[in-house]
Amino acid sequence: MQQRFDRDVLVIGARCAGAAHARLLAEAGLDVLVVDRAEPGTDTLSSHTMTRGAVAQLSRWGMLRGLVDAGTPGIARSVFRFGETESAIDIRPVADGPGMIATRRWKLDAMLAGAAEEAGAEIRYKTAFRDVIRDDAGRVAGVRLAGPEGWDYSVRARFVVGADGLRSSFANAVGARERVIGEARLAHIYGYFALPEQRDNLVAIVPGLSIGLTPTDGGMTTVIVSAEPARMRDEMRKHGAEGALLKLTDEIDPVLGALLRGAQMTERARLFAGHATMRRESSGPGWALIGDAGQFRDPVTAHGITDAFRDAEHLAACLLETGYDATGYERERDTVTDPIFALTAQMADHDRPMDEIAAQFIQFSKLMRDEQAWMDRRFGPAQLAA
Ligand SMILES: Cc1cc2nc3c(=O)[nH]c(=O)nc-3n(C[C@H](O)[C@H](O)[C@H](O)COP(=O)(O)OP(=O)(O)OC[C@H]3O[C@@H](n4cnc5c(N)ncnc54)[C@H](O)[C@@H]3O)c2cc1C
Repeated sequence: MQQRFDRDVLVIGARCAGAAHARLLAEAGLDVLVVDRAEPGTDTLSSHTMTRGAVAQLSRWGMLRGLVDAGTPGIARSVFRFGETESAIDIRPVADGPGMIATRRWKLDAMLAGAAEEAGAEIRYKTAFRDVIRDDAGRVAGVRLAGPEGWDYSVRARFVVGADGLRSSFANAVGARERVIGEARLAHIYGYFALPEQRDNLVAIVPGLSIGLTPTDGGMTTVIVSAEPARMRDEMRKHGAEGALLKLTDEIDPVLGALLRGAQMTERARLFAGHATMRRESSGPGWALIGDAGQFRDPVTAHGITDAFRDAEHLAACLLETGYDATGYERERDTVTDPIFALTAQMADHDRPMDEIAAQFIQFSKLMRDEQAWMDRRFGPAQLAA
């Protein structure tokens, strides 16, 4: 018997993976419903630096200019300090904007969701995924949801996409197996400091510790400090989140520590206790995973938003090419991201000689260029500036 569907595609999660994916499918004419248990325009745990891959995607989608026009500062230089050695690289812009930005997530995710709605996708907020519905052959054929009033209801869809983040309950419900790529992990504390003079992105690493400074919206700078989780727990216990951030900054660079102590902090500091770099089985009959739900890497390389944007477009292309078969998506994703994930797993360990860490950052830049070249071939050139 012919199955009846309410929607072509149902996407769980309306942030950088889910909203971007929904827009692309809706633009191609599919009937798309996105659900997210969060409220619209809210923040999420992320220090949100967007490196070239993510920026090139925004440029390709015609959204980069809008973010910059709405006040996100462009970043033209990245300074790296490995122990006592300092170097700087100029960040090549893309055709219609800077090559690096760090838009606040409440602004970025809202813009992506707005674009999805404009393209014709429906987004239901405060709506949580509860369980999958399968057809007689075992193929995923829809979901059970809980709406804002707490009522459970079902939506049948030809294809369901889990874009519900690292702790994906959709992945759990479909039984997606998880494989750890690297156990090394860092704990991260970040906060926002009023440092209007900060124009460059700065990364400084000393044995066991690192700090990143990235200019963001509203004249603020995101400051993220990273350490091995046991060390971070200990500092948190003694000093609290903000105290730990400042104390570890003093250890990395006392001048920077003094600068932060003299600057206004506008929000409470936030902790991410760390997670292994991992990959989940990401496709099956009637379903696929994108973004953090499919694979997660330590934030040390500031690349998760690039992953989300790459997956969003890649899965959309595969579904449209194949008529809802994501097997090729998963295979191709793994081939493209294997080297970059393996390296990230090693980079989430700061207790190594400085020259080794510096060499890994250089190797990471090369892998980002390879990934970028693949995206240009697969999705069309992103019009990079000469
Ligand atoms: C401390 C930290 C710093 C980071 N810094 C950077 C950085 O500088 N640069 C970078 O590129 N990346 C960074 N990342 C990674 C980046 O934030 C993620 O890769 C990115 O947010 C993944 O996007 P996503 O859309 O896949 O998932 P998410 O952004 O996690 O969105 C998932 C959405 O799914 C919704 N959801 C979850 N469960 C359900 C459910 N049951 N029902 C309905 N909705 C549900 C959630 O409400 C959420 O809105 C960082 C991560 C952390 C933890």
